[in-house]
Formats: sequence, structure tokens, C-alpha cells
Amino acid sequence: MQLDTLWQFMQVDMEADRFEAKMRQSEKRQKLIKQRDFLKDQQANMKKLENDVVVMQDRLAAVQDEADRLEKVLEGLTKEFNDNPPSNAEEAQKQAESVQKLLETLSRYEQELQKMRKDADTKDRQQKEIRVRAAKTKQEFDQLKVEYDKELKADTAELQVMRGRTDQEAKKVDAHLLAKYRSIKQHCTPPMAKLVNDQCSGCFMSLPSATLLDIRSGDRIVECDNCGRILYDAGD
Ligand SMILES: [Zn+2]
Repeated sequence: MQLDTLWQFMQVDMEADRFEAKMRQSEKRQKLIKQRDFLKDQQANMKKLENDVVVMQDRLAAVQDEADRLEKVLEGLTKEFNDNPPSNAEEAQKQAESVQKLLETLSRYEQELQKMRKDADTKDRQQKEIRVRAAKTKQEFDQLKVEYDKELKADTAELQVMRGRTDQEAKKVDAHLLAKYRSIKQHCTPPMAKLVNDQCSGCFMSLPSATLLDIRSGDRIVECDNCGRILYDAGD
């Protein structure tokens, strides 16, 4: 019976698939992916911090320039005051107000500069922390990668043996039947289901009597109306 050989083939095919899925879920592989993602995140964080620092340095330089300029204006005013003392109280009041205003502005700039320097220090510290963390993770990653590569090499060899066995079994199966199996497998796996208690054991749908007759006659391949699997009557 054709379906017996297909069923045999499916057992080795599924075993190889399960093994391959297990390889993908390898603990080491999952951990490496996490570490790689973490390192990528840290790189992005680092880049953002670097950009922030550049912007901050520009702003710091601009504020510093403006503060320097005001210092000079203040110096000029002071010199003017000494060289040509105000002739009356009103004049003196006006000059004092100008100086006061300048001093206030300068003080505001000084506060802003202080805050920016503090921010720059914080960002500097953050960058250092990231560098340390990233270096540690990279070291762990490299170490684990060596172990994982070994594991992968062994598993790949084992999988190759399994796939070889699958290819051997495939040779025993009718080519058209095998093509059908492969096409069903694209959307439904395993692609065959046993007939159990007149139900498809893949999706548990009860099968109509006409379908059951078709299956039992063995004249043609019958697929489940509901899930599309090839129905197999093992006779047990
Ligand atoms: Zn079904």
C-alpha cells in the first residue's frame, strides 16, 4: 500500500524536523541572540549619547561666547563709569540699572553653563558604564559563541544523517504522492493523519461516510475536508 510507505517516510521526516526545531531553540543560541540584541541596543544608546554630547557642546560654546561678550560689555561700562563718572543722580541710577541687568544675565548664563557641565558629566559617566557593560557582554558572547559553534557543528552533522535517512525513505514513495505530501506540508504539518474512530486524528473532525468508504476502498488518496491532511487508515 502506497500510504504505508508515505507514513513510514513521514516518521523520519518529522523526526528530522523536530530535531531541526530543537536546534533553533537551543539555549545557547537563544542566549546569543539576546546578547547580540543587547549589544545592538547599547550601540544605539551610545550613538544617541554621542549625538547629545555634540549638541550640548555646541550649545555650551555658544552660551560661553555670549557670556564672554557680556563680560566685555560690562568691563566697558565699568571703565566708562570710572572715566566719566555720572554727573547727576538720574544718570548714576541709569548706569547702575544697566550694570545690574548685565550682571543678572551673566548670572543666568553661569547657572546654565553649570547645569550643562553637570549634564555633560552625567552623559560621560553613562557612556563609561555602557562601555563597561558592553565589553563584558561581548566577552560573554564570544565565549558562548565558541561553545555554540561546537554544538552547532555536531547537531548539523546529526541532522545531515537524519536528512540522509529521509532521502532514502523518500525514494520508496511514489513521486506524485511525495509532491502532494510536500505541498500539504507547506501549510499543515504533519501532513498525514490517521483515521481514528472515523475521525481525522489531525483535526478531530468526524468524517462523512462517503469519505470513509473512499478511504477504505484504497482507490485514491483522500484528504480531510477540514484540515487538508492525507487521511491514512492504518487498520488498527
Ligand atoms: Zn482533518
